[in-house]
Amino acid sequence: MTIDPGATIGILGGGQLGRMLALAAARLGYRCRVYDPAEQCPAGDVAPHVSAGWDDEDALAAFAAAVDVVTLEFENVPVAAVAFLATRVPVRPGAGALEVAQDRAVEKDFLNRAGVETAPWATVESLEDLHEALDRLGRPAVLKTARFGYDGKGQAVIRDGDDPAAAWAAVGEQRCVLEGFVDFMVEVSVLAARTAGGAIACFEPVENRHRDGILHKTRIPAPITPDVAERAVEVACRAVSRMDYVGLLAVEMFVMPDGRILANEIAPRPHNSGHWTIDGAATSQFEQTVRAICGQPLGDTGRLGAAEMTNLIGAEVEDWPALLAEPGARLHLYGKAETRPGRKMGHVTRVWPGRDAPPED
Ligand code: AMP
Repeated sequence: MTIDPGATIGILGGGQLGRMLALAAARLGYRCRVYDPAEQCPAGDVAPHVSAGWDDEDALAAFAAAVDVVTLEFENVPVAAVAFLATRVPVRPGAGALEVAQDRAVEKDFLNRAGVETAPWATVESLEDLHEALDRLGRPAVLKTARFGYDGKGQAVIRDGDDPAAAWAAVGEQRCVLEGFVDFMVEVSVLAARTAGGAIACFEPVENRHRDGILHKTRIPAPITPDVAERAVEVACRAVSRMDYVGLLAVEMFVMPDGRILANEIAPRPHNSGHWTIDGAATSQFEQTVRAICGQPLGDTGRLGAAEMTNLIGAEVEDWPALLAEPGARLHLYGKAETRPGRKMGHVTRVWPGRDAPPED
């Protein structure tokens, strides 16, 4: 059954992803309603916003009654809230995908079972586990909290001579995964959309460059061979098929110097590395999300040229006057009232229709 224009999409989470999703939905004639515990949020500027807690069953029930389908822009929505909504209205993607994406150990186990390679890893629940895992995986290694880590938060690198106890303390002595540190050539991501009917469409792999653990730039096309690109797309297709996934899924991967692909993490929502599609592709990742969750035909994922998306982090947003004045630069500001170091405030996309690759800076 399709959900047609005129219907209302409920969005869990009110950040910039929800804002851009609501804007794309509106263009196709859908209405949106946003649920976020915050009093004010970026998506709340462009769609009606319900401010209530994730455990407020009355508010969740009223929200479910007011929408035709629910999706999310934030993967740390409590699974209980999603399961509660799912008894009343379709939630796409559902609680199962969320459970996988919320926990790095479950996620890596899922990927490995699906035949997708990852960096070598081990679950760590105590300092003794950490010592054992370090003996097995060697150094350097990265200790990451199993849950609620993002943008490099909740991570500690352990190199030769480092005291494991310090890393264990740094991550808050909680359940973690330890990963072997891999010497990758390039980081890429693939966004795959899947409908309930099983149709799948992927955007081509893009290159992601990080700064201080936060995505700095996404560049398209990624500097990889056609064979690696094909295998990266295959990894994303495999992940969405295995989960019977409905919606848009982002898969972040490391490409090794020998061409091997190691999946790093998945995100069950539109992704920062897909922002370029608003200005640089035939269909944006946000429109594709709407199409996928509403059972509509998936859009053309072709790109309009070489492209580069640069995040505006913290005070970088103050460059907006120059970016507005730059011919061809497409500026997106998220309307966040407070600028904080490390906070994603906006992004700018540049597209070069005639070029094979974006210029190096
Ligand atoms: P994550 O939070 O897992 O996305 O990690 C943030 C960033 O840290 C990644 O985008 C990589 O640049 C780097 N990183 C994470 N895990 C590893 C690893 N096992 N080996 C090398 N670099 C890593």
